[in-house]
Amino acid sequence: MVAFDMLIGNEALRARLQSDLSEGRLSHAYLIEGPEGSGRRTLATALAAALACEERGASNSLPCGRCNACRKVLENKSPDLIRIRRDGKKASIGVDEVRFLRGDVCVRPNDLETKI
Ligand SMILES: [Zn+2]
Repeated sequence: MVAFDMLIGNEALRARLQSDLSEGRLSHAYLIEGPEGSGRRTLATALAAALACEERGASNSLPCGRCNACRKVLENKSPDLIRIRRDGKKASIGVDEVRFLRGDVCVRPNDLETKI
């Protein structure tokens, strides 16, 4: 299973991200927005798996979904994958979440090649 295959619709976005991945042109950050149930989390997870994938550089179809790094990201079992979210009904991500993120990103990754 290729994680981007989990995304239904929005073929243009999927093709763009696959192209950027294969050409090494990903940005340092992406803001993914949309209504609840639109696949924001699925897209973020697929993108994270593609960044961690051990087949990176060897395949144009990332993430592979089979390697150890992909499985850890897809199953949310890597300490190097950090997810932050709004607290409850707040309009934006809070200061505490940003402080946590800033404090953690300077620590070397544990089991992936990079922090995501
Ligand atoms: Zn992989």
